[in-house]
Amino acid sequence: MLELRPTCEHCNKALPADSLEARICSYECTFCATCAEDILGNVCPNCGGGFVQRPIRPSKNWKGDNYLGKDPASTKVKRRPVDLTAHAQFAARIKLILPEKR
Ligand SMILES: [Zn+2]
Ligand SMILES: [Zn+2]
Repeated sequence: MLELRPTCEHCNKALPADSLEARICSYECTFCATCAEDILGNVCPNCGGGFVQRPIRPSKNWKGDNYLGKDPASTKVKRRPVDLTAHAQFAARIKLILPEKR
């Protein structure tokens, strides 16, 4: 199950479960849209993959107890501020490659 992390790893902005600003990589590294797109150039600093918008888990029990009430968002903050100088070097070539070709 997707871990809905509570904040941006880099800037610590709150990203509640219903946030349209949350972005994740395939490993669930979680950033806000501004960090993911403008600061990190759509290159995850941890794996080099691209980001997509984090899906919203339903808040209501539409079917089979698959909702936030039973599977709440994580409250464990994962803060790993990115070294932007190192990231610029890391991402320089990677960002030119479409995420699906990386
Ligand atoms: Zn951020
Ligand atoms: Zn990643």
